[in-house]
Amino acid sequence: MNLISNFPPTAELQALDAAHHMHPFTDGAELAAKGARIITRAKGVTLTDSEGEEILDAMAGLWCVNIGYGRDSMAEAAARQMRELPYYNTFFQTSHVPAIELARKLAEIAPGDLNHVFYASGGSDANDTNVRLVRHYWAAKGKPEKKVIISRKNAYHGSTMAGASLGGMTGMHAQGGLPIPDIVHIGQPHWYAEGGDMTPEEFGRARARELKAKIEELGEDKVAAFIAEPIQGAGGVIIPPDSYWPEIQRICDAHAILLIADEVICGFGRTGQMFGSQSYDICPDIMTVAKGLSSGYIPIGASIVCDEVANTVAEAGDFNHGYTYSGHPVACAVALENLRILEDEKLVENVASGTGPYLAEKWRQLAEHPLVGEAVIRGFMGSLALTPDKAARAPFAAETGTIGLIARGHCFENNLVMRHVGDRMIIAPPLILTKSDVDVLIERAVRALDLTLARIKDEGLYR
Ligand SMILES: *Cc1c(COP(=O)(O)O)cnc(C)c1O
Repeated sequence: MNLISNFPPTAELQALDAAHHMHPFTDGAELAAKGARIITRAKGVTLTDSEGEEILDAMAGLWCVNIGYGRDSMAEAAARQMRELPYYNTFFQTSHVPAIELARKLAEIAPGDLNHVFYASGGSDANDTNVRLVRHYWAAKGKPEKKVIISRKNAYHGSTMAGASLGGMTGMHAQGGLPIPDIVHIGQPHWYAEGGDMTPEEFGRARARELKAKIEELGEDKVAAFIAEPIQGAGGVIIPPDSYWPEIQRICDAHAILLIADEVICGFGRTGQMFGSQSYDICPDIMTVAKGLSSGYIPIGASIVCDEVANTVAEAGDFNHGYTYSGHPVACAVALENLRILEDEKLVENVASGTGPYLAEKWRQLAEHPLVGEAVIRGFMGSLALTPDKAARAPFAAETGTIGLIARGHCFENNLVMRHVGDRMIIAPPLILTKSDVDVLIERAVRALDLTLARIKDEGLYR
């Protein structure tokens, strides 16, 4: 096998990177000062950097490399399709085999009557599609004024104008004039940070009922849809109380609004079932998928749509929407091979009953660490809340994220990719993770937590 193993020295790459490459979600000046860590190759759950260091990737890239790195059959699927038909569009009454086969496959594995697929290039643009689709649907039903979409604070639905507007990240809304009109946000089911004296179950129900209150405030005839991640990912792996989703489902059933489950992270096995909606008994009208759909080997996303919405839209004439790369044949072929691997190697089962329970047990034990206020996990999505005061679930006196960033630095130095969101530490490892990988992950996490605690005590930040 030929690997691209010759590259310039790290310092040279870092200088070129800082000079010419604008990074997403990055402080450019800080990056230029420090230099990026440059990843050169990867296999299984392990990344290798330009200095030859081996790093355990407990984030599966950006929550996407579900089948792990370095799969030859994925490269072969892409090469085969590129030779056969590298590109053709699916506009104007044309189609091709990979787009058809993947749509059939997604309709087969998606729950309920989610039988129709509109392709995008990622999760953000799939959510843009959803905004236009649900508004077009209601207009086709003779209700053009039914166009408000209710989302949640601290949600993540992507970074395009519509995606970031649906999302509830204040830092994103602060840049670029967001949110766009007719998108509103209710509270998130984040008991640890916001639940006060309520029990998690009481709090979950209360937060769900904010949806009912918002529908009543706006008028049901103005509301098109509610969108939510089954488990909030980028918001900090916020696992909702068990009372939350049943109450949301009840409210959606009682009102004529569509329910969009953003499965971009939860989909394709991460929660221990194929979709997060199945783990929480959610019956969505539309699911957004991306990330694990191709395990990140190639960009692709999709909206998986129920019969009623798809049939109504089909009968309403042209849907004036689409992307040059909607249903890209190479991306579809790679996604099909990814789904074959996921099923043949029983990777969803590995999350539910193989490595999953072992990871959960070890992860929850991290709650015994003096710095950890809670250690929660569902399937292969886990988070730790860092705190100076466990009993009070108190934040640090330092600005939010200061301690998380320090902990993340110690993880990275100890060859573990674990992200921080504010002062929460999060993991979402590849679904191929083994029990011995778990042992390495936990050992490095503990070491990073110990180093973080020592350092913040030294620097007077442990308060
Ligand atoms: C990552 C993500 C998106 C955006 O997907 P992109 O492929 O980055 O556009 C949307 N929703 C959720 C829940 C995500 O985690």
